[in-house]
Amino acid sequence: MPEKIDLSQIIKRGIAEFSPESKIEKVGVVVESGDGIIHIAGLPNAMAGEMIDFPNGYTGMVFDLEREIAQAVLFGPHTAVREGDFARCTGRVMQVPVGDALIGRVVNPLGQPIDGGGEIKTTKFRPVERLAPGVIDRQPVNQPLQTGYKLIDALIPIGRGQRELIIGDRATGKTTLAIDTIINQKGQDVICIYVAIGQKASTIANQISRLKEYGALDYTIVVAASAGDSVAYQYIAPYAGCAMGEEFMLNGRDVLIIYDDLTKHAQAYRMISLLLRRPPGREAYPGDVFYLHSRLLERSAKLRPEAGGGSMTALPLVETQLGDVTSYIPTNIISITDGQIFLETDLFNAGIRPAVNVGISVSRVGGKAQVKAIRQIAGRLRLDLAQYREKQAFSLFASEVGEETRQQLRRGALMTEILKQDKHLPLPVEDQVIVIYAATTGVLDEIDLAKVKSAEKRLINFVYEQAPELKPKLAAFSAETESRLKELMQKFKESI
Ligand code: ATP
Ligand code: MG
Repeated sequence: MPEKIDLSQIIKRGIAEFSPESKIEKVGVVVESGDGIIHIAGLPNAMAGEMIDFPNGYTGMVFDLEREIAQAVLFGPHTAVREGDFARCTGRVMQVPVGDALIGRVVNPLGQPIDGGGEIKTTKFRPVERLAPGVIDRQPVNQPLQTGYKLIDALIPIGRGQRELIIGDRATGKTTLAIDTIINQKGQDVICIYVAIGQKASTIANQISRLKEYGALDYTIVVAASAGDSVAYQYIAPYAGCAMGEEFMLNGRDVLIIYDDLTKHAQAYRMISLLLRRPPGREAYPGDVFYLHSRLLERSAKLRPEAGGGSMTALPLVETQLGDVTSYIPTNIISITDGQIFLETDLFNAGIRPAVNVGISVSRVGGKAQVKAIRQIAGRLRLDLAQYREKQAFSLFASEVGEETRQQLRRGALMTEILKQDKHLPLPVEDQVIVIYAATTGVLDEIDLAKVKSAEKRLINFVYEQAPELKPKLAAFSAETESRLKELMQKFKESI
């Protein structure tokens, strides 16, 4: 016979154990929703930048606080939230998951996976907006970040922790340069973050498959906000990527972050500002558009060991119209970064790739971190190229030029040929040393320009075959190494 159940006992116990727990939730109501901007009433204590929950799992972020109404931007389709829906304060300012689990993944700017690769198991979050490290916490750059392009590593060197702008018109090779720099970080212990802002989803997919193809996704996080995503996503994407990078930087790791591109980011912010009826200024951008990018790029740094010791190198990309670098957004970002790489359509169409205009591209801090060998030989290269440019213009008018000028023109043409580099073929720094050394010391002078590229390969192989022990010593470039290299060059020259 079943045991008799004493209902009254159960009820009594229930009463004894009952402890009233009150949970306060701040819930407002959506009074207006359109174009991804949500007006919410009844949230007098909402914070700027606070995350707001909407029905069906959608999230928003408070952007503007007025007396009665809070305005939020919506992460999701415009029609996802309607008038009358609830809006719940979360008490958290906008944050994203961070940590090792994100490496190798493609996420949206909220840190949610969009690569179909399953859940990302992280326990740590960081706010997307954070004050940049102060002067005391920083130290000068002292380690190179190789792009694998001879031209850049020799003439416009980038150091870990630097911010170098890549700027140019449409289709001048900006993205390719950035992606190749990621590819070149293989085995360099650098974590890469590629932030795609406002590009076509198909373009982003292409870049991701490129990274996969070269095995670079293994150490890369892709943060993607495509042109089809809401402007809120596009606006927050670079800050989200930056927060993910900061986690590594503060733990002593080296990070490379690419913002592709900040022109589209500024446009997304302009759209939000206009929808919020903030007063438009120059080119219809709001007055604080400088702050938009300065607070982002200032977060890149080379930290002192006491402050974490890591670094975050930033390569922001900016698109210009007809090479006009004097418009509003380019001038702003030029003034925030530590130098810029100008890519030009004319050069690109003339077959000079990377299409870098060496005359006006600069790196203001990277030289200090440059590999010694390259620093020593780059001076000559720079001079040769400058003379070439000068004489080239001059030789167009003079029917006959002197022997010396002819020599300089020939050397310049050789250098230009040497600095051309096909995409996705980054060159290790040791190989760069060999080739640039050969070119600047006249070893390749006699070679037909059309055959320079193949001679370059032969030369590198020749050196490694003849003196395999030289490879690890090339970057340090002692006097002994140099004389050995000189010897080998002479031998090579005789063999051609
Ligand atoms: P957009 O403005 O559309 O973003 P972009 O400036 O990022 O363009 P890319 O997409 O990188 O330019 O390059 C444009 C084209 O040029 C691509 O087809 C790319 O493969 C080619 N390209 C870029 N760099 C090189 C190179 N070094 N060698 C050969 N081809 C290159
Ligand atoms: Mg691009």
